[in-house]
Amino acid sequence: MSRPSVVVIGGGIAGLAAAWELTGAAEGPSAETPRVEVIEASTVGGTLATATFAGRTIDVGPDGFLARRPEAIELITEMGLADQLVDIAASGASIYLREALYEIPRGLALGVPTSRQDVASLGGLTWRSRLGVLRDQWLPARLKVGEDIAIGDIVRTKLGRELAYQVVEPMVGGIQAGRIDHLSARSLFPALYEAARAGGSLTRALTTPAATPATAPPAPLFATLRGGIGSLASRLGERLAERDVAVRRATPVLALRQSTHGARRYDVDTADTTTAADAVILATPGAVAGALAGALDPALAALSELRSASVAMITLALTRGELDLSFPGTGVLVPLATPWRGADSMLTTAITLLERKWPHLVEGDEIVRVHVGRSDDVRFAAMSDADLVARVVAELNTILGSFPAPNAWLVRRFPNSLPQYEVGHQALVDAAKTAAARRHLALAGNAYDGVGIPASIGSGRRAAREVLAALT
Ligand SMILES: Cc1cc2nc3c(=O)[nH]c(=O)nc-3n(C[C@H](O)[C@H](O)[C@H](O)COP(=O)(O)OP(=O)(O)OC[C@H]3O[C@@H](n4cnc5c(N)ncnc54)[C@H](O)[C@@H]3O)c2cc1C
Repeated sequence: MSRPSVVVIGGGIAGLAAAWELTGAAEGPSAETPRVEVIEASTVGGTLATATFAGRTIDVGPDGFLARRPEAIELITEMGLADQLVDIAASGASIYLREALYEIPRGLALGVPTSRQDVASLGGLTWRSRLGVLRDQWLPARLKVGEDIAIGDIVRTKLGRELAYQVVEPMVGGIQAGRIDHLSARSLFPALYEAARAGGSLTRALTTPAATPATAPPAPLFATLRGGIGSLASRLGERLAERDVAVRRATPVLALRQSTHGARRYDVDTADTTTAADAVILATPGAVAGALAGALDPALAALSELRSASVAMITLALTRGELDLSFPGTGVLVPLATPWRGADSMLTTAITLLERKWPHLVEGDEIVRVHVGRSDDVRFAAMSDADLVARVVAELNTILGSFPAPNAWLVRRFPNSLPQYEVGHQALVDAAKTAAARRHLALAGNAYDGVGIPASIGSGRRAAREVLAALT
C-alpha cells in the first residue's frame, strides 16, 4: 500500500502542531512519514489573530503565552522564530472593587488569598472576607470532596462568598471566561482540589511549597513574538507547505465516516471532496469533535456536551498622554455583576494595558484592550461593534475615573472559543481519549489538556505521536 494518510480536522495551533509532529517535527519527514492533509473551516491559526492597528502589528486575540512551559518556546525555536521572542515587561494587576482600584497582592494562589494580610490590602473587601480567612486558619469549614468539585464550592465554603465572587472568580473565571460554580477544581486548580480533599485550612495548605509552584508561580513569566503570536501560525503554515502538507482553508469538514469500501479506515467529507484516511486527528473545539465522531462511540458522542464560552476583545487607540494611569501592573480585573447604570451590570471583565506588557509596542497612540463575555454573559453578542465600543468606553470612564474618546478601535469576536472545564471534565475527556485511541483517532486542542497556547501545542503533538504509534 502507499504511504498512510492522516487527516487533521481543524487548523488552529493544535492542528498545525499535530501536522508538524506527524511530518517529523524538527528532524523533518522520512520514508515512513504519512501523507498529511489539514482541513480548516475558517482561517489557519484558529484563535490566534494578528492585525495591523494604529500603525503597528498587534495581536487582536491571544497576545502572549506562559514561557515557563516548554511547548510554545520549543515550537517557536523549531520555526526559527526564537530571535523574535519578547519577554513580558511588567507583572501584577489591579482589581475594581466597590468603585475603587486596588493592587492585587502577590501572595494569592490563583486568586485565593493565602494570608489575612492579602485580604487586608484589598481595601474594597469587607470584614466578612477577613473573618473568612481567620476562620479558615483556626476553625476550617468541613467539606465533602468527591472525584471532582467546583472551584466555587470549595472557596465559598471555606472562605465565604465575598472572596469567592469578588476575587477568585475574576482571576480564575477570568482566564477561562467561566463561572467558578461550574469550573472543575480537579482540572483547573489541582492544588486547590487536593487541599480541599485533605481537609483543614485552605489558606495554610496553599502556602505550602508543594502547592505554590505547580499552580501559581509567584510571577508568571510570559512571552510573545515581535510579529505577533499569529506569526507562529503563519510560519507553521509555510513550513508545512514545504513538506507537501495540504492545508485547506475555509473548508469545513461535514462528516467523518467509517469507510465501507477501499483500504483505508475513514472517509472525511467536505462540501466538495472526500479524503480517505488511515487515521484522523480531531483538532476542533470539543463539541465539534463530538458531533463529527459521536456516531463511532458513545464516549466520543459525550464530547458534544462540552460547552465553550464566547468572548470579544475591543482594542482602543488613544492619544498618548491623555489617559492617566496611576495604578501599577498590566491591567484591571472587574468582578462579574459589578453594578452599572440602573439594574444593569458592567460588560467589561478585564482591561489590558498592552504596552505595559509588551514594550516593543510603545510608539504612536497608546493601546488599551477591553475583554467582555463569559460562559453565561453573551450580552455583547447582540450589540453592533460601534455600540459595544461606546458601552465599554463609558464603563472605562467609570472604572478608571476618566477615559478619552479613542482615535481608532477594533472589535474581534471569538464565538464558542474558550472551553469550559466543568466538574467531571477529566473523566469525560479520559473516556473519549481512550475511545479515540481504539479507533485510530486522536483528540487535540484546548478542550483536552489545558486552555493556553503551550497546552494546545502540546496536545497537538501528543495526538500526532499517538497516531504515529497506532500506524506503525
Ligand atoms: C480571546 C482569547 C484570548 C486568549 N488569550 C490567550 C493568551 O493570551 N495566552 C494563551 O496561552 N492562551 C490564550 N487563549 C487560549 C488559546 O489561544 C487557545 O486555547 C488556543 O489557541 C486554542 O488552539 P486550538 O487549536 O485548540 O483551537 P482553535 O484555535 O479554536 O482551533 C480550532 C480550529 O478548528 C476549526 N474548526 C471547527 N470546526 C471545524 C470543522 N467542522 N472542520 C474543519 N475545521 C473546523 C476552527 O475554525 C478553528 O480554526 C485565548 C483564547 C481566546 C479565545
